[in-house]
Amino acid sequence: MKQIVLFGAPAAGKGTLAGKIKKILPQIPHISTGDILRENKKNETPLGLKAKEYMDSGKLVPDELVIDMVEDRLKRDDVKNYGYLLDGFPRTLSQAEKLEEIAPAEVVLVLDVPRQELLNRVLGRISCPECNAIYNKFSIPPKKEGICDICGAKLVHRSDDTEETMNKRIDTYEENAGPVIRFYEEKGLVKHVDGTRTMHLTEKEIKSFLEIV
Ligand SMILES: [Zn+2]
Repeated sequence: MKQIVLFGAPAAGKGTLAGKIKKILPQIPHISTGDILRENKKNETPLGLKAKEYMDSGKLVPDELVIDMVEDRLKRDDVKNYGYLLDGFPRTLSQAEKLEEIAPAEVVLVLDVPRQELLNRVLGRISCPECNAIYNKFSIPPKKEGICDICGAKLVHRSDDTEETMNKRIDTYEENAGPVIRFYEEKGLVKHVDGTRTMHLTEKEIKSFLEIV
């Protein structure tokens, strides 16, 4: 049983880290606000229908509505029995304060990745349309520029992001997450994880982050 909150910029590798945590705590529910929103919309719950109105008119779903949906989710038995791995929540201080009331976080993992590395990860993504091989211009380049090593097809870009949109996404993350991370830092709950080596983190390292002995 562990109540974990995960923070990381776009492309920081939250999915990879979450996967590694799930290997150690297989029953922990991985809860993301995106999934909760989709589920509520799909099941046409009263909250989901309200959220849909906002989204359809191109507006952000208000804080209180997100909180209500997450609160709903956190009341289920799997959370009571196994804790949670929260991703994308809390995004604001009022959400963090609410979470303290419902089911307080025990560990807050912050994936640190330098901005240039995030940009490289997203802007460098290229793939083969023929055999689906994936490359990165900066970190895993093909032997011959723009050509697939395996089948010789011409490689294509995988991201719609430009440097500008990616920088904006990172700025938004920093603006939102900054105060919330400080809130948890004051409580002594934050563990910084080197996101440049998430793939290589050992089970032992992750257990020590999570204070599981
Ligand atoms: Zn190929």
